[in-house]
Order: sequence, then C-alpha cells, then structure tokens
Amino acid sequence: MSQANNKNTAMGTKGGRFSRRQFIGAAVGAVAVWGGYSVLFGGQFRADKADRNVDVLLIGGGIMSATLGVYLAELEPSWKFEVFERLDKVAEESSNGWNNAGTGHSALCELNYTPMDDKGKVQIAKAVEINENFQISRQFWSHQVRKGVLGNPREFINSTPHMNLVFGAENREFIRKRVEALKASPLFAGMEMSTDPAKIKEWIPIMMEGRKADEVVTATRSPLGTDVNLGAITRQFYKHLNERAGVKVTTGHEVRSITRNADGSWRVSAFDIKDKSRIQTVDARHIFIGAGGAALPLLQLSGIPEAKQYGGFPVGGEFLVTENPEIASRHLAKVYGLADTGSPPMSVPHLDTRVLDGKTVLLFGPFATWSSKYLKNGSYFDMVKATTPSNVIPQLQVGMHEFALVKYLAQQLELSKEEKMAALRRYMPEAKDQDWRLWQAGQRVQIIKNVPGQGGVLKLGTEVVVSEDRSVSALLGASPGGSTSPAIMLSLLEKVFPDRMKTAAWQSKIREIVPTYGKKLNENPQLLAAEWAATAEALQLAIAAPDLAGFTPTGAPAEQPGVVKKVPDIALQSQGST
Ligand SMILES: Cc1cc2nc3c(=O)[nH]c(=O)nc-3n(C[C@H](O)[C@H](O)[C@H](O)COP(=O)(O)OP(=O)(O)OC[C@H]3O[C@@H](n4cnc5c(N)ncnc54)[C@H](O)[C@@H]3O)c2cc1C
Repeated sequence: MSQANNKNTAMGTKGGRFSRRQFIGAAVGAVAVWGGYSVLFGGQFRADKADRNVDVLLIGGGIMSATLGVYLAELEPSWKFEVFERLDKVAEESSNGWNNAGTGHSALCELNYTPMDDKGKVQIAKAVEINENFQISRQFWSHQVRKGVLGNPREFINSTPHMNLVFGAENREFIRKRVEALKASPLFAGMEMSTDPAKIKEWIPIMMEGRKADEVVTATRSPLGTDVNLGAITRQFYKHLNERAGVKVTTGHEVRSITRNADGSWRVSAFDIKDKSRIQTVDARHIFIGAGGAALPLLQLSGIPEAKQYGGFPVGGEFLVTENPEIASRHLAKVYGLADTGSPPMSVPHLDTRVLDGKTVLLFGPFATWSSKYLKNGSYFDMVKATTPSNVIPQLQVGMHEFALVKYLAQQLELSKEEKMAALRRYMPEAKDQDWRLWQAGQRVQIIKNVPGQGGVLKLGTEVVVSEDRSVSALLGASPGGSTSPAIMLSLLEKVFPDRMKTAAWQSKIREIVPTYGKKLNENPQLLAAEWAATAEALQLAIAAPDLAGFTPTGAPAEQPGVVKKVPDIALQSQGST
C-alpha cells in the first residue's frame, strides 16, 4: 500500500468540542440527508438472469471471507465459490498490514481483557477466551503452511514479545494482581513482571532511555506474543482459492444488489467500479457478507429481518510510524500501556514492532479519527445510507448514553501532530519529530444493537449475524479482529451449517485443520504444550514457548466474580481490543 493511498483524513471538530446539543443536531441533520438520499437513490436493481450459479458467494476480499473460503474449499471441495471485491486488489481495507496494528490477539498484553471487578479482583475469563481463540489461529495457519497454501511464515507471523509498561503505584498494583490472576492458566505461562528499571531497560531500551531514575515503572513480558500481517495471509489465501477449479475471485466489482429468488437462493449483482454498465450477476445458495465496515449496509440490502436490529458507528485509527532502522532495530516488542491515574481510561496506546513488506517498522497509537465513511476507501454518504427508520433511534440513544465516548473522540480529533508526539514521548522519552510520520489506518464500524428493554447499545466486539434459514450470514464489528479470524469463522460454520458440522466427514476434516477443536487448552496443559510445539515448528516462531512440564495453576480459587465497571474505550475497543 503506497502513501498516496493514505488520503482518508479525519472530518470533524477541529477548533471546537462536541456538545451534546451539537451531536444531536448533527445526527438529526444526518437523518434528514438520509431521507433525501433515499428518495433520490433508493430502490434496488435486479438482473433478469444470473451469469453463474454458485454454492457460496463471499462478498468482500478481506481476511474474514478469505478464511471462510479456505475452510469451505477443504470441507466441500466440489462446491462452487465466487468472491466479489470492490477494489482492484484484495486485502486493501482493514486487513491490509498497514491498516491495522497486527497484534496476534492472545490477551497477553491487552489489559482491557482483564478488568478489575468491584471486589478488587482481576477477572481473566475474557483473556482466557481470546487466548484460546488465538491457539485456533496458530493451528489453522500451521495447517495451511504444511499444505503449501501459506508460504514462508516470516512474511505473515513473527515472534514479538507482548509487554506492558505502566506508570505509578496504583497501576503497578493492578499489574501485580493481573499477573497473579493469570497464573491460574497455562495459556499465560512464562509471563514475567519487573519493577526494576535496569531490567526493563534490557527488554525495551528505547522506552526507558531519557526517563527520570525515580519514575515508578512496571513492565510485564510474555515470550508468546506475535506480530501478524493479516494482508499477507489474505493475499495468499485468495491466490490459493483463485487457482482452484470452481472458484472465481472477481475484483473491481462492487455488490449493489441482493435479492431473493423464488427457490430461496439469492441473486447478487456486482457493478464494475470503472464501467458501471458492466455487471456480473450470480445466483448463490449461501452468501457470506465479509465486507468489513460495509457489512451493515449490505446486510440491510438483503432485507432479512435480523438486519433491522443493527446500526453502526464508524471510528478510524491513526498511528505514528517510524521506518528509521536505527530506532526500529532497537525495539522488539508490542508494548501496551494503561491510562495514567486521573486521565481517561480509553487513552491506552501501544508501541509496536511490525514486520511489513519485509521491513521492520514501529507503530505508536492508535489515535482515534472520525469520518462518516464505513470503509477507508468508502463514501462520506456511508453512514447516512445505513441509517434507517429501525436504527435511527437506537443510534441516537447510543449518542446520548455513550457521551463520554463521543467527547473522547472529539478530544482525540483535536490533537495536533505535536500533541501526538507528546503522547509518544510518555512511552519513548527521546522520540524525535523528524523520525515519525502520521499514518491513517483502517475504519471500523462499531455495532449499535437495538436490545429489547434497553434500546440502542454500543457493542465493541464482533457479531456473527445469520438469517433464520441460514442462507445469509455476515460479520459485523471488528474486534478482536483478523488475528482470531479462524475461530470466528469456525463459529460461523457451526451456525450456518449445523447439520454438516455434525457429520463424520466434517468433524474429521475440522480436526485435521484444527487438531484441538472442541477442547479447552486452558484445562489441558499437556495438550497445550504439544500444540505450542507443533505450531511453533510449522510457523518457525523464533521464541520458544515456555515449558509446561509440571505446570500447576497457582491463581486464586474461582469465586463468584464481582461487577466490572463499563469502560468506554474506542482506542482499544474495550471488549475487543485492537
Ligand atoms: C486501526 C485498526 C487496528 C487494528 N488492529 C488489529 C490488530 O492489532 N489485530 C487484529 O487482529 N485486528 C486488528 N484490527 C482489525 C482487523 O483489521 C479486522 O478485524 C479485519 O481486517 C477485518 O477483516 P474483514 O475481512 O472483515 O474486513 P476488510 O479487511 O475491511 O475487508 C472487507 C472487504 O470488503 C470489500 N467490500 C466492501 N463493500 C463491498 C461491496 N459492496 N462489494 C464488494 N466488496 C466490498 C472491501 O473493499 C474490503 O476489501 C484493526 C483494525 C483497525 C482499523
């Protein structure tokens, strides 16, 4: 991805803060524009006949569709597939390596997955769930390497210790409790903690140089972390799919019509982006909408009643990037922070080693950006077009209830490059302006769900939506993200094809792909050790997994968990961090 492509700038509130009245005014204005837009452009095209019939149509050329396609190609090799992607190439939106943080999410360093409850206990259930999901990713990608679908692992996954660096006595106490709590699970074995500045400097020199000697710092380090290039995986998956008989990947075509056929199948038309008179139409038994931020409007286009429960709120991310080899070569870690006492809990940045295009670079952020687009390469009308009579009230309700988030966003939008550099210097005191540039990453669309009895609720994770007859499925939301796509798509297969999933053929194939399928590794240290060894070998991970021989959980005995305070956290995606 070239810098020239990086032209999505934040729209918004420079020079003034959002007030509640301004926010409601903007929302009402958006609804009015929407009304006008629907009158002018409403109605859906329907082709008289299809050019092709397929078993499964995948809409969107990102990692989610790619992962589903690769699963299905193994499970049902005789099925016909088609992929429609609106851009000229696959993996150019959120899945592009430059458009996300590339954290292989395993909850080793994302502190929002281990919240403290009102009894002062650190809860680890969510962290265990995320980590279990990442073990599925390791197995899925290892299987694809062994099969030759994925090539050199160095191009898409690299051992990168996952760390925390926090400041102050209160945060040290939280980290200490977290490390203790995680000792209950073998998934987090090998995690070290240090309060010694000299030791921490050995781990992350550039984050300690220039720091006052008496500053209270605390760090953790897990050797199990990874940096993942989701774009490299996606491109290799589509190359593999495209080479198979019965699979067609059509780029440069945007899906604009999804209508039902009398036999229950779907007629889907995609318009050539450069020449709108050229239209490709397929009839499909199953559709998967893996269109990233644009999944919501496509789900609405299908007209399935399930779509009515959802609205969407777009948020972008921006990073400071350095490609200076002298700096990048001195930092090997993804180091996640925690908000300082007294500052908003959502200001949680991370300084990450990335391996992109064969080069090591550092990313710091994300800073939140705002645009009404649902995709980085989308349209400013996206949000207005997806606002419907059924989701307008829930969207407004979220605007009112999550006002802290709206305010936080407004504050983030006001930050100048100098202020962003100041935020970086909190983590890397000697960072110099000339080494760092700003980079606009991808757009995410947060789910707003109309929950009976509660109204509009902002959901920060992902949601697999499946129609009642299971012929349409979609992935809404974006967290924890593409690095757990193999587990997310496995859960989608269970929902869309429950009967096939029970067959001996699918069961044995799934276990070939994900050998520990159906087992909790958290409860089985021997199996976990075997899985780590096998996947570390296949993925050629440079840092060995810790030895689990004789592992005995030492965490606090399970007790009734307390209440966890809700934390608005758009930078980190609270319940699903990225
Ligand atoms: C700032 C940021 C940081 C992130 N950090 C991480 C991280 O550290 N770790 C992690 O695991 N995840 C991270 N994520 C999330 C991760 O990037 C996403 O979960 C993942 O890329 C989503 O993949 P996808 O296939 O659903 O969507 P995308 O990659 O966005 O792909 C959707 C595709 O659909 C196409 N499309 C849309 N509409 C149409 C249409 N009408 N017709 C045809 N094609 C269409 C688009 O052009 C696009 O190519 C991050 C995301 C962001 C934005």
